Amino acid sequence: MSQKELRDLVNQTKKQLEHLRALGVEGIQVSTATAPAITQPARVEPAPAASEPTTSLFGDLAPAPVKLTKSSETFEQIHAEIGDCTRCPLHLERTHVVHTEGNRKARLMFVGEAPGADEDAQARPFVGRAGQLLTKIIEAIGMKREEVLIGNVNRCRPPGNRAPMPDEASTCKPYLLREIAVAQPEVIVVLGNTAMKNLLDTREGITRLRGSFQDYKGIKVMPTFHPAYLLRDPSKKRETWEDLKKVRDYLDSHRSSDR
Ligand code: URA
Repeated sequence: MSQKELRDLVNQTKKQLEHLRALGVEGIQVSTATAPAITQPARVEPAPAASEPTTSLFGDLAPAPVKLTKSSETFEQIHAEIGDCTRCPLHLERTHVVHTEGNRKARLMFVGEAPGADEDAQARPFVGRAGQLLTKIIEAIGMKREEVLIGNVNRCRPPGNRAPMPDEASTCKPYLLREIAVAQPEVIVVLGNTAMKNLLDTREGITRLRGSFQDYKGIKVMPTFHPAYLLRDPSKKRETWEDLKKVRDYLDSHRSSDR
């Protein structure tokens, strides 16, 4: 190896070590084995077994977390762009496009799946029986419905209240994500599987993830059961209450002055 190659290698290694330190790795164990193992890895997968090929020295690191960039557009601009939407087949049977409503400076946002019959008729999210239960859930953690933001992955009612198809959800979801970038709530509660899978891009089910905070670009996300499910199985209200208490406690212990 030439002097220059050696210098480059040392510089590159230095940079990688600094990057690891920034990620919280506190030490590296250097062994006589071909690939060095990383000890006490924070956000690092286990080191590959000696027999596994290693693509690069630090190729097993998790990617750096993506943070949400604050958007300067307004809800009005987003809603105007959605307009009398015909971008997916759900427009064929809807009466109204149902936009996100509530406090645009809310610390807390709720995201559901798609409007039902009552929402479609009134052009407002969560106003039917499930919505009334959602209002009670919000009040149970000491807040008013007007204080929070409430929206859905899809803005048009799927026929027969079926779940939105993946292509219907992916057509509509970007508008919700733009609203989230405008409002920047501190916590988002995702209600049920469809909302959770769409926001978190996960294949996990709600039963496994509910009750533990997840992350959407630096925003805390609490998955919990959908209120419509609670109407069908009231025994699940107890777990939902546990999940919402965690949200309340998080908000109480992270009071910020700038809202
Ligand atoms: N269910 C949802 O997911 N959203 C609504 O707005 C109403 C019912």
